[in-house]
Amino acid sequence: MDVDVERDLRQRIMAWVADRAARNGGWISRSDLLGHTLEDGTSLPLIDFSRGIRNPQSMVATLAIVSATDGPYEDRDTGDGLLHYAYRRGSGGDNRKLREAHKRGLPLILFLKPEKNVYIPVHPVYVVDDDEAAASFTIALDESFLFMRDVAHPTEDQRRYAVRLAKQRLHQPYFRGQVIRAYATRCAICSLRHAELLEAAHIYPDSHHEGRAVTTNGLSLCTIHHRAYDADLLGISPDHRVAINQALLDEVDGPMLRHGLQDMHGRTIDLPRRPRDRPDTDGLAWRYERFVSAG
Ligand SMILES: [Zn+2]
Repeated sequence: MDVDVERDLRQRIMAWVADRAARNGGWISRSDLLGHTLEDGTSLPLIDFSRGIRNPQSMVATLAIVSATDGPYEDRDTGDGLLHYAYRRGSGGDNRKLREAHKRGLPLILFLKPEKNVYIPVHPVYVVDDDEAAASFTIALDESFLFMRDVAHPTEDQRRYAVRLAKQRLHQPYFRGQVIRAYATRCAICSLRHAELLEAAHIYPDSHHEGRAVTTNGLSLCTIHHRAYDADLLGISPDHRVAINQALLDEVDGPMLRHGLQDMHGRTIDLPRRPRDRPDTDGLAWRYERFVSAG
């Protein structure tokens, strides 16, 4: 395949991935990835049946890699904002195709796999270095690293940029995918089911030292309830009751205020099915206190 044709094809595949993930709330199932077809009906699975790397025969370079990420992503962070992908053992072909991706600057898809059957896509990513001494490839979250002179020894500014990028492009999608899935793609407050309107809210905010990007510090909320929660117009008590700010309860206005907010007062939030995904009680208590004192 001509490299420009391949670049174009990758872009179309990534658009499909983005659309499919958005509809689910940030993740794609294994069967959807295996069942992927091109516009002309040709089957082109986006993951391999049994391996963590996808090298379609028709493509010159690797299309996707899978990173099994059991537990919170940030625990595996190496601190440099880059991913280090070990050479594949006994498979010259895999390493050759990763090298092609590096040489030609072709974009890849990274699938974070927190558990069986769940794939959180991050794309495009780029192979930006081939570290022979460490027997690993370095993968970055944007193209600019391809033009960096010495990826292994970044300047302080470059390192900070990479870390910030990792937060936006890796940690946030991972957190969102995990939280929304835990709540079965619903708003915990109003039960709205539209993934496009759902967000992962932090209980301890990102800026707080306890503000980790883990499911127990998250709530799946629709956009309006997320904003209201962040503005302390809405609180959730440690025993999972919704409270609306008194001034807001006294206000008279249209249907959004009445149904969207006032009617939520006193409701019990929907919790994740699995106990280990449920919101941390201390976090809820801390946050509820903030809501009460703001009112
Ligand atoms: Zn809602």
